[in-house]
Amino acid sequence: MIEDKNPKRTPLSELGEFKLIEHLTEHFEITQKSTVKGIGDDAAVLNFDKKQIVVTTDLLVEGVHFDLSYMPLKHLGYKSIMVNLSDVYAMNAKATQVTVSLAVSNRFPLEALEELYAGITTAAKHYNIDVVGGDTTSSNSGLIISVTAIGEVKKEDAVLRSGAQPNDLVVVSGDLGGAYMGLQVLEREKEVFKVNPNSQPDLTMYSYIIERQLKPEARKDIIELLEKLQVKPTSMIDISDGLSSEVIHLCKQSKVGVDIYENKIPLDPQVITTCEEFNIDSTTIALNGGEDYELLMTISQNDYEKIKGNPNLTVIGYITEAERGMHLVTRAEEKIPIIAKGWNALKD
Ligand code: ADP
Ligand code: MG
Repeated sequence: MIEDKNPKRTPLSELGEFKLIEHLTEHFEITQKSTVKGIGDDAAVLNFDKKQIVVTTDLLVEGVHFDLSYMPLKHLGYKSIMVNLSDVYAMNAKATQVTVSLAVSNRFPLEALEELYAGITTAAKHYNIDVVGGDTTSSNSGLIISVTAIGEVKKEDAVLRSGAQPNDLVVVSGDLGGAYMGLQVLEREKEVFKVNPNSQPDLTMYSYIIERQLKPEARKDIIELLEKLQVKPTSMIDISDGLSSEVIHLCKQSKVGVDIYENKIPLDPQVITTCEEFNIDSTTIALNGGEDYELLMTISQNDYEKIKGNPNLTVIGYITEAERGMHLVTRAEEKIPIIAKGWNALKD
């Protein structure tokens, strides 16, 4: 929303495909032992010895997954890596490499792609991963980014969605609902900006939730914490679509039921105040708002002492036999069935 009036705009046609790829990728360094050959050949060469490999991919489409009127390209680059790394960590694996593929229309100048790659580079540095390849092509309309992430995990350490057992504790990292409420604030400001392009919104009171939307972090730290605490979750999933739908995925794949306690769901104070301002129920947002990229896991009760009191991990419920179903126990101690709405359903 804040625009430089005379930015430099180098048309992509000035470079051509090969020069463009070279320009965007020449600064990537190889840091991982498992990367034998990165960018520059027909394929990357990786060597993981005896480790198991996890591979995951996500596609981000302009107008569907992001809106460039409030998403700076640098943040978009960063986020496109985060959404993928989050899936790697959800396997209890270590992320090691990514590939990045772009379809880009000629309305983007070179400088825009430089911004995007600045975000990708920052993410790669912070999370200690190598960018080992990709593809670049043109698009007739918007920007499309596809990232594939690769990771490694010892066979005995991999955590699937399917391992939850009755009596296990349900644990969530961080807090929920922030990214969705950040999006609500940004959407509102976009509407204000349309009416009054000179408006300079003061968003400091929403800084945390806006950051949750624009600059999410994948929870590498939680995987490292679990290792340090010697806790191996019985099942795990990352929360990209909201707590309800992820809880349902875990329970269905593990063939179990669950009781989640409304009063245990971790919410940041900014989520609570912004929900009040927008007149939305904060539990609904935590259950159905998307893009928090926290980890939802189940752990054996025997491991409770190890995680007890840790500010990064909150016990929100426990696993039951499948016949008991999946329920939210409300503050009024009512039991209501958990249903998946997902964040798209919240849109209208
Ligand atoms: P090919 O013709 O085999 O598809 P390219 O000319 O597209 O090869 O790519 C050359 C090298 O640059 C390859 O190593 C490829 O993985 C890498 N690459 C291409 N586009 C990107 C991109 N957007 N980001 C990172 N690496 C890329
Ligand atoms: Mg190619």
